[in-house]
Amino acid sequence: MLTVHGFRSQFGEEWQCGAQLTRQRWPEGFACPRCAGPSRGYMAVRRVHECATCGYQCSVTAGTIFHKTRTPLPSWFWAIYRMSHDKKGISAVQLAKEIGVSYPTAWLMQHKIRKAMQDRDQGYTLNGLVEVDEGYVGGEEHGKTRKGRGAKSKSVVAVAVEHRGPGEPGRPPIPGFAALSVLPNAGSKSLDSFLKDKVRPGSHVLTDGWNGYWHVEQNGFAHTAIDLSKQDQPAHKLFPWVHITLSNLKRFLLGTHHTVENKHLKRYVAEFNYRLNRRTMEEDLLTRLLRASLATQTITYKQLIATPELT
Ligand SMILES: [Zn+2]
Repeated sequence: MLTVHGFRSQFGEEWQCGAQLTRQRWPEGFACPRCAGPSRGYMAVRRVHECATCGYQCSVTAGTIFHKTRTPLPSWFWAIYRMSHDKKGISAVQLAKEIGVSYPTAWLMQHKIRKAMQDRDQGYTLNGLVEVDEGYVGGEEHGKTRKGRGAKSKSVVAVAVEHRGPGEPGRPPIPGFAALSVLPNAGSKSLDSFLKDKVRPGSHVLTDGWNGYWHVEQNGFAHTAIDLSKQDQPAHKLFPWVHITLSNLKRFLLGTHHTVENKHLKRYVAEFNYRLNRRTMEEDLLTRLLRASLATQTITYKQLIATPELT
């Protein structure tokens, strides 16, 4: 963790952030993309290195989430710092206050950062013994319904959590990585593709008796389906981690963000998922998220608004 003073002294100036991005993009030192020449110097105002050999001006932010941003890099770094470290995340209202930008600017910055988080975790898969369930998020709470009532205002979120090993006696197993996705519905087609995306073939999938999980074995997983109606233990005891994860997700959405539009939900879920899987890492959270931010093409306001629901 950095103190506010520590953050300011390291990343308080535009050129310091430019130098940090340069170190991360060119760990061996800047090399011109045209001729591999060294940098003559970094121009912080335009965020470019000028090549000492051919004179080409190379942007450190092109092709990243910072592409063409007019917001100072220290404000971006602060947003990334807060979103990577704060367990509950940070609202756009709060971020706007902290860095002195408008609410829409803070909102847009956060969605760009969320996209970086989402892209970073895209290829990760879980394995071993994996608890899987799905639940409804958003809208009004009426408990778990599989279809019909409230389906319009709620979205389906599927959750998978690895078991790393048995827990202490009387305690739930030790959780490993988790994967969450917003699905168009809780039908078998959606759940099949969730499992194919997020769980390695050959893993042992643990679900309740919902018929959306009919094809699990057919799709190359070992499958144990527990019919909850025939158990004396409640669902949250049999599937502790998916329940804890879903209720923490709901708390994050309600507590930090109050209302989340369905069309943007997948990015909030990706943010929650990203932090959850890095909860035991204290070091380098800022550097890690900066790296993810550099590896992701930006998303514009227009693109965000045009996003169709649930894709
Ligand atoms: Zn050059």
